[in-house]
Amino acid sequence: MTLKLYNTLTRQVEEFVPNKQGEVKMYTCGPTVYHFAHIGNLRSYLMEDILEKSLNYLGYKVTRAMNITDVGHLASDSDTGEDKMIASAKKEHKSVMDIANFYTEAFKKDCKALNISWPQIVVKATSCIDKYIELIETLLKKGYAYISGGNVYFDVSKLVDYYKLTNHQADEMVVGAREGVEADNNKRNLSDFALWFTKSKFDSQELKWESPWGLGYPGWHIECSGISLKYLGEYLDIHCGGVDNIFPHHTNEIAQSESYLGHKWCNYWFHVQHLKNENGKMSKSKGNFITVDSLIEKGYNPLVYRLFCLQSHYRNPLTFNFDKFEGANSAYKKLLAKTKNLTLNTSGEINQEKVNKYKTQFADALSNDLNTSLALTCLYDVLKDETLNTATIKYLVEDFDKVLGLNLLNSNKEQLDGELLAYINEKIEERLNAKKQKDYALADKIRNELLQKGITLKDTPNGTEFLVN
Ligand code: AMP
Ligand code: ZN
Repeated sequence: MTLKLYNTLTRQVEEFVPNKQGEVKMYTCGPTVYHFAHIGNLRSYLMEDILEKSLNYLGYKVTRAMNITDVGHLASDSDTGEDKMIASAKKEHKSVMDIANFYTEAFKKDCKALNISWPQIVVKATSCIDKYIELIETLLKKGYAYISGGNVYFDVSKLVDYYKLTNHQADEMVVGAREGVEADNNKRNLSDFALWFTKSKFDSQELKWESPWGLGYPGWHIECSGISLKYLGEYLDIHCGGVDNIFPHHTNEIAQSESYLGHKWCNYWFHVQHLKNENGKMSKSKGNFITVDSLIEKGYNPLVYRLFCLQSHYRNPLTFNFDKFEGANSAYKKLLAKTKNLTLNTSGEINQEKVNKYKTQFADALSNDLNTSLALTCLYDVLKDETLNTATIKYLVEDFDKVLGLNLLNSNKEQLDGELLAYINEKIEERLNAKKQKDYALADKIRNELLQKGITLKDTPNGTEFLVN
């Protein structure tokens, strides 16, 4: 099976070929832990999780690293504004460390609720200061960086292809011009970006480290280059993030990493389009956001949001509103109802031929640039295929759910009381014995007794199945 993925770098869907056969090194830009993640942020993490699970499903061994930004992410991409962590600590009258720990735990909880696997390697930005200093020293030595006004900057004019990840003209992409902010007079070129700050107009920066350039703190972009190079090595297969990360963040990561290494760094760039609402992109700064907790408070199972995301392609913008979300909610309920029986009892032998056919169809959908809505169609096809016995259906539902992560069988299990399950199985057994003894009156009595409790029995060539209404 050939996996095809859209690569932002080449702007086309390409065959995925990792550096080392069968193994994938994947980096995810993690959250800036100054606030709760909103469901827009989580759309990105959810689709990155689908990517990782799909790679596993297709037979790759994935090593994935993610940063936790707890320093240096300024309120503006153009290296101006206050550090987001400091601003939040001030607002909440807590230390930066407390803020970071609190929102990291909240993010972990959201990931768990949405069945997003926690990457094997998760690294706090503040834990790798030595690595950033090493990178910056090399960039200075090689002439890609310069010191000005007490800060260290990357000189983008040293690169012929600085904008290679973006699809825009250089002048449109200049951060200062784009955001209409005051230019930083220390910079040689408007697009240059800070690698290390010792002079900030904000005195309140409480996290500072000794460096060859004085007491200071790292820029935001250097952190992802540093963590990725330290934990995943010189050759990265896939780098992920939301589309807003393409410029300047990922563009700057490429500039730093490749100038430091002297060779190409990452082959595939995977970007998830934004979740929007009526007012545009969902964002923390606009304050128009919805969290997983707020969905739970409204009575929704958080996995409904997972299904909501899976229903559309990761490269299309997705608009959230509660009418649409209700649609996903009833679709999820229907899926649970359809798979309810499978948790309890199945019958027949697994039909390997049918399993192979459906597995191939499912893998094809994923391999087609993560066509998750088609993968869901595969699931629906299995559930409505009357030629499949329940053992085969259960096998396939469990198999697909390794990627879909909708907890279909477990959610059902959680809903069903163990005692009830034991009671139903006992009654089925009793009824079977009655039928063997040709005591059809007793068999009917048992069936009716169950029916009155909302349990419908269905005799199939493979045995008795039941449905709990
Ligand atoms: P942040 O915590 O702001 O650094 O963002 C974390 C991740 O969420 C990044 O990969 C962003 O690109 C992504 N992101 C931010 N807003 C949205 C949105 N509305 N929809 C999808 N992804 C987003
Ligand atoms: Zn990053």
